[in-house]
Amino acid sequence: MKRYSALALARQAIAGHDGWPQAWRSPEPKPRYGVVIIGGGGHGLATAYYLAKKHGIRDVAVIEKGWIGGGNSGRNTTIVRSDYFYAASAAFFEHSLKLYEGLSRELNFNIMLSQRGSLTLSHSRHEADFQRRVVNAMRLNGIDGEMMTRDQVREFCPILNFAPDARFPIHGGMIQRRAGTVRHDAVVWGYARAADALGVDIIQNCEVTGFRRDPATGAVTGVETTRGEIACDRVGLATAGHSTVVAERAGFRLPLTSYALQAFVSEPLKPVLDTVIGSSVINSYASQSDKGGIVAGGGIDAFPSYAQRGSPATAEKVIAGLVELIPSFSRIRLLRQWAGIVDYARDSSPIIGPSPVPGIFLNCGWGGGGFKAIPGGGDVFAHLIATGTPHPLTRAFGLHRFREAALVDEAAAAGIEH
Ligand SMILES: Cc1cc2nc3c(=O)[nH]c(=O)nc-3n(C[C@H](O)[C@H](O)[C@H](O)COP(=O)(O)OP(=O)(O)OC[C@H]3O[C@@H](n4cnc5c(N)ncnc54)[C@H](O)[C@@H]3O)c2cc1C
Repeated sequence: MKRYSALALARQAIAGHDGWPQAWRSPEPKPRYGVVIIGGGGHGLATAYYLAKKHGIRDVAVIEKGWIGGGNSGRNTTIVRSDYFYAASAAFFEHSLKLYEGLSRELNFNIMLSQRGSLTLSHSRHEADFQRRVVNAMRLNGIDGEMMTRDQVREFCPILNFAPDARFPIHGGMIQRRAGTVRHDAVVWGYARAADALGVDIIQNCEVTGFRRDPATGAVTGVETTRGEIACDRVGLATAGHSTVVAERAGFRLPLTSYALQAFVSEPLKPVLDTVIGSSVINSYASQSDKGGIVAGGGIDAFPSYAQRGSPATAEKVIAGLVELIPSFSRIRLLRQWAGIVDYARDSSPIIGPSPVPGIFLNCGWGGGGFKAIPGGGDVFAHLIATGTPHPLTRAFGLHRFREAALVDEAAAAGIEH
């Protein structure tokens, strides 16, 4: 792999940019791999990278039914943060944020991390009490978090709606200053390029349609794909909103439900919003991209679905909420709207652990919040696949928690979903 650097850029500029090597190969699938990862999103690619880099397992294929990053990893609103309530979630997401902080250097790929802060508004004294509880928990867990008064919020983000007769008057807020945004495609491409350089085969346009299992032990022995059968010893499943579909093909059910989650981007504007703002009560949030577009999101559609469209009713709710937060945005035009299919467990926490089928491991249930988890998720999932035992950071997140009534109900505790 040629290193990206200022010197390489200058050389290529002089040579007319003809000499850049391909960032990753498009190999034909081999008949056998040690590990097959299903799903070429951020989690699948990061897992392959850490398997090769940290565990020396390079006999790995990432099988993607479409194109890499064509799922949620290329459809999200790019927010990264670690302002979680429970110690288990806080430790995991902080690990992931720390990996993000060094990722451009690690991958030699600019992921455009912008730690502009993430401010969650409160609209009443009661909500502020709730946020104080979260901020106190964050601090106890060694994570930066601060409460803000109404005046501090006004100074920090003056375009918000401070009208005295606002339907949702701003009381104050909580902020994590190390939170922010990361360019989503860059994360996918950076991991793909680095994994490929370590020998991982990235196979696109190849859907996993079934599994081969040893009749005596039930253990996985390979996958059936639209490009033929591939034998393997271990399978990592990282298919987000389609995890239940793939699991059924392997003969087991997952406690997950899939919903459409929508995002929106406006026409480009001059810089007006230099932080991520959101409100759990209004259920809308927004940031401004480096190109100037206002990137907005909100809650999931109210019914399960695999249709990557999103319902107009939810779109209206999110946009109405955004205009409530920042009334001047009522005059800007929407450029695009899209949706991804996200998979939720009852407690809105991920599932990372062994599956009921020996040799198949699970990385799913990220819902609307797994982009921030990509480096951490890849790291702990690689550990699980390589060693067969859960990483200490994810012991709370196995399937066992549904049997043992040990759910980690983060959405109820922190009230934030992106
Ligand atoms: C609109 C929206 C906004 C979001 N905003 C945020 C945010 O701001 N911050 C945040 O942290 N998270 C956010 N998320 C969530 C985040 O995007 C996801 O949790 C994360 O990208 C999941 O990554 P992944 O690699 O597991 O899944 P994906 O990127 O979806 O990758 C899974 C891949 O599996 C492939 N696949 C499925 N079935 C098969 C098969 N049978 N064979 C082969 N391949 C298969 C799919 O094609 C897909 O490419 C958002 C999601 C959406 C939809």
